[in-house]
Amino acid sequence: MEVRELKKTYKPRNQDNETRNFQHVKILDCTQPVHRVIFECWHCKQGLLTEVEVESSQALDVRCPNCGKTAIKLMANKVISTTAIPSPWQS
Ligand SMILES: [Zn+2]
Repeated sequence: MEVRELKKTYKPRNQDNETRNFQHVKILDCTQPVHRVIFECWHCKQGLLTEVEVESSQALDVRCPNCGKTAIKLMANKVISTTAIPSPWQS
């Protein structure tokens, strides 16, 4: 039996970009079965409004209509609609 020891060296790479990467998310209608979630696309920062059903929660990928990538992962049952909106966080 071979035991291999892995030594990982930590290299700070693109620290400026990665540590400052965060996502704005605002959830409306929290008490309703359908939530409205306002957020920015993770990739292109497009402002988005998504309506989701939250009866049973699972991890869902919400696709960005602007860049076609996964804009956000939400705990929700079903994505009803995703609409591009002007981001409330961009001036
Ligand atoms: Zn996008």
